[in-house]
Amino acid sequence: MSEHADCIFCKILEGSIPSRKAYEDEDVIAFHDIRPAAPIHLLIVPRAHIPMLQDATAEHERLLGKMLLLAPKLAKEQGAGNGFRVVINNGPDGGQEVYHLHVHVLAGPRPWKGMAV
Ligand code: 5GP
Ligand code: ZN
Repeated sequence: MSEHADCIFCKILEGSIPSRKAYEDEDVIAFHDIRPAAPIHLLIVPRAHIPMLQDATAEHERLLGKMLLLAPKLAKEQGAGNGFRVVINNGPDGGQEVYHLHVHVLAGPRPWKGMAV
């Protein structure tokens, strides 16, 4: 397990903070963002506590590919019929709030709530 004290997403992964899950397997989970910026707003989160994309290494290549390939699959499952947006915020200037790598998947009919993510 990848329990990092004070990491909200590790707590969601271990189950001590509830979430509305959309998918899970041995490598990743996906759940609905608590403050959705679009009608469909999922977060795809690796079980491994990788803080940012710049902390990922060659050993994470397969994991990162898996996260990206899940995006269209989960968007479709959630009802996205007309495209979707994928966002990874990195560091302060990237607008990152939670320092456990995650992929935002945003979809649904526009207008959305702006560029919150
Ligand atoms: P970041 O800005 O780090 O890319 O995005 C973090 C995202 O996590 C935000 O969109 C925020 O709404 C979401 N978030 C923060 N805390 C929680 C939580 O406890 N549960 C869920 N489901 N989402 C959260
Ligand atoms: Zn974490």
